Amino acid sequence: MSAGQKVGVINLGCARNLVDAQMMLGRLKKDKHRIVGHQQAQTVIVNTCSFIEEARKESIDTILDLLEQKKSGQIKRVIVAGCLAQRYGPKLAQEFPGVDAFVGTPVLDRDNERPQVRLTAKHLAYVKICESCFNTCSFCAIPQIKGKFISRSIESVVREVSRLDAQGVKEINIIGQDITAYGMDIYRQKSLARLLKEVLKVCHNIEWIRLLYAFPAHFTDELLELMAGEARICKYIDMPLQHISDHILKEQNRHMTGVQTIALIQKIRRAMPQAFLRTTFITGLPGETQDDFEQLRSFVKNFRFERVGVFVYSKEEGTRSAKMELQVPSKIKKNRMDLLMRDQQVISSEILQSLVGRTLKVLIEEKEEVKSCHSERSEESKGPLRSFGLKPQDDKYRTYIGRSEYDAPDVDGVVYVRSKLSLKPGDFVQVLITDAYEYDLAGQVL
Ligand code: SF4
Repeated sequence: MSAGQKVGVINLGCARNLVDAQMMLGRLKKDKHRIVGHQQAQTVIVNTCSFIEEARKESIDTILDLLEQKKSGQIKRVIVAGCLAQRYGPKLAQEFPGVDAFVGTPVLDRDNERPQVRLTAKHLAYVKICESCFNTCSFCAIPQIKGKFISRSIESVVREVSRLDAQGVKEINIIGQDITAYGMDIYRQKSLARLLKEVLKVCHNIEWIRLLYAFPAHFTDELLELMAGEARICKYIDMPLQHISDHILKEQNRHMTGVQTIALIQKIRRAMPQAFLRTTFITGLPGETQDDFEQLRSFVKNFRFERVGVFVYSKEEGTRSAKMELQVPSKIKKNRMDLLMRDQQVISSEILQSLVGRTLKVLIEEKEEVKSCHSERSEESKGPLRSFGLKPQDDKYRTYIGRSEYDAPDVDGVVYVRSKLSLKPGDFVQVLITDAYEYDLAGQVL
């Protein structure tokens, strides 16, 4: 590609993929290309996801859409990058001859000093501390796609965080496939707590450090103690548990039993009673019996997680579980997912309702135009404004959308904030919570 091209990216999948896209754009910018929104681009990169069937479908639909745009002359080049290209490159090239190039996932190196073009808001950043995973869960293809587990050096992460701090970032999200395994390769031991202690030393503007993608079997007491004692580490734990029955945890190869899982959750609840726990479960792994599912259902009801995502088991090529007998029919998998999500909706509303009357620290993400929101806004989100008793002409107040430390970007709910003060993205405000909805909160700046 000759220099000076207008290049844009469509990023699909998870935050780890987003960091890969930022690194690709950083490299292209270094090579004198102009980084623009994908709508204005001559060359569009689609950074694909291949985690499960649904994600692959979205990736392929996006490729087809871009090839249509190329055919009609709207764009000149289509580049397919990311996990789908990494996993099925040659096959994709046969299926999509119109694609100009297939690029696998960038390899993270220990001292990862690659320039990045950040695709997040100025006040928010993702910091990838390690790549891939060696846990080999029986249903997961990620280790095949991403290769050998690798941790960045503490020095390289601290340098990156220090740069982000100087750029005025307020919240960093620490990510990897399994951040709790951080350092087990280069330092021969779980070193996430050690890393965080060094990172905290360079956090002067950064007020929130959020930990995403923890693996229960690698969650240490040292990490828990640090989280409980450090105000700048969000009281938020994202830790996929996937199941609770011993039979299925063994079939999933999760290195944990149901009893050990419960003991860990109870320990976390004791150390940080106010913390929000986000987790995910899979329904319908081959061999899952009605009894296994009932165990999971009562576990979710009894332990009342603040945030829950449920996936139906997806038979992934090359994984151990794909070869297992007793594959569960799709209808049953789906029914079990629906039942769990229905139970969780009730739990989520009750937990959020219990926050009414509390004051939460909220990070402002964007201003909400009062006038526009009444006419264009979806029924569901008119609720918060109605609860404020706001009318279109009522411009004494402004409303904003923000997040509390209990809301991870793009996956959790938001806080609708009413304020007489003029606020800007990146501001932290104390908000008195006045209303709660299924997944969102509403409140007023004190
Ligand atoms: S820990 Fe996560 S990324 Fe690693 S194998 Fe298991 S599911 Fe996949």
